[in-house]
Amino acid sequence: MKLTELRGIGERRAKDFAKLGITTTEQLIRYYPRNYLDMTSRSSVRDVVHNEMALVACKLVYVEPLRTKGKHKVVRALLEQGPDNFTAVWFNQPYMAEKLTPGDYLFYGRVQNYYDRISLVNPTFERLDANNRLKGLVPVYPLRSGIPQWLVRDGVRRALGAETPASLIPVPLQQKYRLMPLREAFRKIHLPASMREMQAAAERLAAEEYFALIAAFRLIKGDRTQARTNRYSVTAEEVGAFERRFPFTFTDGQKAAVRDIFGSLKSPVRMNRLLQGDVGSGKTAVALTGIFMAVKSGYQAVYLSPTEVLAAQNYAVLRRTFPDYRVGYLAGASTAKEKREIKEALARGEIDILCGTHAVLQADVRFARLAFCVCDEQHRFGVAQRNLLSEKGGDPDILVMSATPIPRTLSLIFYGDLDVTTIPDKPAERIPVSTSIIPPRKYDDMFVWIRGEVRKGRQAYFVCPKIEDDEGEATAAEELYEKLRTQLPEIRFGLLHGRMREKEKDATMSAFKRKEIDALVATTVIEVGVDVPDATVMVIYDADRFGLSQLHQLRGRVGRGAEKSYCFLLTESNSETALERLRILRSTSDGFALAEKDLELRGSGDFLGTRQSGKFLSEIKNLRYTTEAIFLAKKLVDEAFERRLDADKIRLAAMEKYESLKDVVLN
Ligand code: ADP
Ligand code: MG
Repeated sequence: MKLTELRGIGERRAKDFAKLGITTTEQLIRYYPRNYLDMTSRSSVRDVVHNEMALVACKLVYVEPLRTKGKHKVVRALLEQGPDNFTAVWFNQPYMAEKLTPGDYLFYGRVQNYYDRISLVNPTFERLDANNRLKGLVPVYPLRSGIPQWLVRDGVRRALGAETPASLIPVPLQQKYRLMPLREAFRKIHLPASMREMQAAAERLAAEEYFALIAAFRLIKGDRTQARTNRYSVTAEEVGAFERRFPFTFTDGQKAAVRDIFGSLKSPVRMNRLLQGDVGSGKTAVALTGIFMAVKSGYQAVYLSPTEVLAAQNYAVLRRTFPDYRVGYLAGASTAKEKREIKEALARGEIDILCGTHAVLQADVRFARLAFCVCDEQHRFGVAQRNLLSEKGGDPDILVMSATPIPRTLSLIFYGDLDVTTIPDKPAERIPVSTSIIPPRKYDDMFVWIRGEVRKGRQAYFVCPKIEDDEGEATAAEELYEKLRTQLPEIRFGLLHGRMREKEKDATMSAFKRKEIDALVATTVIEVGVDVPDATVMVIYDADRFGLSQLHQLRGRVGRGAEKSYCFLLTESNSETALERLRILRSTSDGFALAEKDLELRGSGDFLGTRQSGKFLSEIKNLRYTTEAIFLAKKLVDEAFERRLDADKIRLAAMEKYESLKDVVLN
């Protein structure tokens, strides 16, 4: 329903709402408060405490003309509460001088109390008048300047009186799980009688939102429980013999993962398995063993990597591991002629294993008898891209691998349909990486120390600061590269960033592996998968700008050989929260724990591709819900699908709402 259909909302107000992206009553009802003011805890100026927030009802008497104090523009207002006088001050908000006129107000801000002279610093405020009689818990909406709180409050009140959106959760399930009626939840989130009531409403609304999201994911991914058509003739003995060809013995975790895969391939349903294991847990060897099961049975296999650097590395590994099979390579950087020849050979069945990047997913890449797909660092691929693999014919079995352990809550949503195998251990001889936080005054000591390491034949990574766009990051990498070369002339540096041509990247990476380069200055291009056992030093500039999971990934690039490795987190930040985050990283090497922590500290947006993160669940970002709401939603979706409740309705609504999910990529 259009907003203007509500009584009291005309064209002018509708324009104000449009500035907030609200044009319908449904959108207005879903515009949740950012906060609540507790009118029962209004303060008397006599009781306010220095440095704490206070909510004060008072009279504005006079606004002083704008003054300039040093670099600051200062606006000051004289306020009065009964017999007590105090002030409000705004720094660098000159427009406040125009905005305020004498009258009754509610001020909310931080208290300063110097020698019994009380002021509120940069407070927010609302006029108290006939339009604005505030009682109980009052919602505060996230607004742009110029749009008053009372306008939204009033609009919401009217919208709640009209028809509110219906729940997508089938009625039998709402009853079974005793869910609060959705209409009631909408009312209570905007106008709660208590914080407890607000909390219950937030949980209900989060469950509703996640229900649609999880259902949409389920529908995008399609039905995965399909009967198998490929028959694998490979035997357990042959698999055991293959394992023994590696220069190391498999860890218990690797062995268990191989057994899981073997079991799936011999079962009557197709495999869709997520293999997760921390960086360095040896997922590649497991994947290779899976590929062996396919080619030994006479089928083709694919090994998909998210970047060309990784694809090239894996191509070398595949050729080494499968000297008696035909291995092909297909990536964006291949020439048109190479691509054509590979595609033809594939279609004729003359290639057994294809290694490549996204290029493999193109429609004209066809296989003669594809049976097994490995998708490395799968979180880099969108959900829909993973589906393209299944459409390559031959009903392939799919093994997706992830080193970024994503929080359990999110994995429920994204991988809800997958079987999961976790490698819990790492090869025994691994020594934990020593992690330190380095402030600028210690950079020089660190350089001296690194020089010593390089002299011993060790190699190092220098990761440049995180910058939002590719180009900025490339520039930062180039600058750091030049700087380090002059600072440490005896170290041979190489440069690696996403703006370089694939050929250059490959050349640099190979030179680093061959030890013709001692240290690599890089952007996060190196984040995933790259494996250089002699690299024992990881230096990360501006570490406070990276997410914990990402730092953990970067740290995982070292500590892969027999020597002790070091990770240096450089930071110029003094912020206690930033340092606290880095300390968490120092104290644990458990990637799963770090991922959970990241989710807690930075929200789910970080785990999703940047493009979509703004849109994703934006409506509930102000809600304070617990993970229980997500688990409940997951249970409800499972049951709705199983019992085929409201199937068509859910399909339509969920897909419409989360259309854009098709392109979501996990970070
Ligand atoms: P990830 O799980 O991060 O993909 P990799 O598969 O790249 O890890 O393995 C990391 C390194 O550990 C590689 O150099 C690999 O050869 C080695 N490796 C794998 N499994 C074992 C093992 N069981 N014992 C010793 N080294 C191993
Ligand atoms: Mg890997």
